[in-house]
Amino acid sequence: MRGKHHAETIIVGGGVIGCAIACELAARGHDVLLVERARIAGGTSCAAAGMLGADSEEFTHAVMAKLARQSRVLLHEQEERISSLSGVEVGLQQHGFITPFRSYSEVSSYKNNRSSTLSEEPIWWDRVSVQQEAPWLNRDTYGAYYRPSESEVLPVNLTQAYVRSAQAMGARVMEGVQDVHLHTDVNGVQGIETSLGTMTSRNVIIATGLHGEELMRQVGLSSPVLPVKGEIAAVQFSPHHVGYRPDKTVYAEDIYIVPKANGEVWLGATSLPGRTDTKVSVQGIQKLLTAATSWVPGMKDAHFLRAWAGVRPSTPDGLPYVGACESVPGLFAAFGHYRNGILLSAITGSLMADLIYGKTSEELGIQDLSPNRMNRKEILQ
Ligand SMILES: Cc1cc2nc3c(=O)[nH]c(=O)nc-3n(C[C@H](O)[C@H](O)[C@H](O)COP(=O)(O)OP(=O)(O)OC[C@H]3O[C@@H](n4cnc5c(N)ncnc54)[C@H](O)[C@@H]3O)c2cc1C
Repeated sequence: MRGKHHAETIIVGGGVIGCAIACELAARGHDVLLVERARIAGGTSCAAAGMLGADSEEFTHAVMAKLARQSRVLLHEQEERISSLSGVEVGLQQHGFITPFRSYSEVSSYKNNRSSTLSEEPIWWDRVSVQQEAPWLNRDTYGAYYRPSESEVLPVNLTQAYVRSAQAMGARVMEGVQDVHLHTDVNGVQGIETSLGTMTSRNVIIATGLHGEELMRQVGLSSPVLPVKGEIAAVQFSPHHVGYRPDKTVYAEDIYIVPKANGEVWLGATSLPGRTDTKVSVQGIQKLLTAATSWVPGMKDAHFLRAWAGVRPSTPDGLPYVGACESVPGLFAAFGHYRNGILLSAITGSLMADLIYGKTSEELGIQDLSPNRMNRKEILQ
C-alpha cells in the first residue's frame, strides 16, 4: 500500500466523527480518503454509551442545543439507509429517557439548575405514574421526568455503519497509517506525509478526537483538548428476571442505565478529568453498581458481563472545534466533541460536507465552533 495516493479530501481519524464525515462526503459524490492510525472505531467511540440525549444533556450554548436536536433527527433519518448500505444494524432504539428523583427538593434543585429554554419540556410522572410506567424503578422514587424523544444506539455499530456506507459509495479507507504530518505551503494544504507514503489532497480534515491538538500544532495552531476519562459496566438480566430489566434509559444525576439493542444494560459513567489511561478501577465500578442497584433494585440479580473505560475529548469552553482553519486554506477541524460525539456525529458530517462544498461557518451559524477561536483569544490577551 506504500506509495503515492491522491484524494480531493483526506480525513485523518476513523472514529465516529471521521466516519460520519466520510459517509456524508461520499454520499455527495466527493472523492474522499479516510486514514486511521490504528483501527476504525478503536478510539473513544468504542467506549461510549451511545445515548442520543439531545434534551437530557445540559447544553448551555444555544448553538449546541440546536445542533444536538438536529443531529438526533438526522441520525434517525439516516439509520435505515446506512444500515442497508453497510449491512450493519446500528441498534437505534427510541424508548425515551427517565430522570428520577428521590424527593421534592431534588426536583426543585434540578429545575433551578437547568436552562429550560434550551430543551423540550419533559413529561412529569408522579409516584403513581412512575410505578405504572417503570415498575422496575425503586418504589421509593418520588417522581420523574420522561423525555420520549430521546434515543440511543450501539456506538461501534454506528461508526462501522458510517464507514462501510462510505466505502459502498466510493470512499477509500486505510487503517494502520502512522506518523501523519500535514504538508502545507503558501497556498495552504497540499496533503499529508505518512508511514505509508505521500498522500496529496486539496483538503485535510482533522478528526482525531483526543489527539486533534497534536496535528493542529504542526501548523502553529493551538486548539487544546482536555481529557476526561469515563468508565462503564455492562450487565445482563437472565430470562426469568426480565420483568426487572429497565425498558427505558434512566438518566439520573448519579448514573445512567441504558438498555441496549443487544440485550445488555450499560451503566455509566464515571468522570475523571485529566486522566488519559483506560484502566478500569474497582472504585469506579463499585460506584456505578451501587448507584444502579439503588435506582433499579432488581439489578442485583443481573449478571456482571464486563467493564471498560475511554477518554472523552473535552475543550476549555466546552464547544467542539468544527470549521475551517482560517490561516491554512484547505485545513479543517472536527474534534473535541466531549461527551456527545455519538449524538453530534450526523450533524458534524453534514456541516463538514457543507464547508468542503464552499459554505462558510457564518452561513451555517457555527462561527462559535471555529477551530481558530483559542488563537484569537491568545492574540487579544
Ligand atoms: C465513558 C464514555 C461514555 C460516553 N457516552 C456517550 C454517549 O452516551 N453519547 C455520546 O454522544 N457520546 C458519548 N461519549 C463521547 C463520545 O464517545 C466521543 O465524543 C466520540 O467518540 C468522539 O469521537 P471522535 O471520532 O472524535 O474520536 P475517536 O473515536 O477517539 O476517534 C479518533 C480516531 O483518530 C485516530 N487518530 C488519532 N490520532 C491520529 C493520527 N495522528 N493519525 C491517524 N489517526 C489518528 C484514533 O486512533 C481514533 O480512532 C462517551 C465517551 C466516554 C468515554
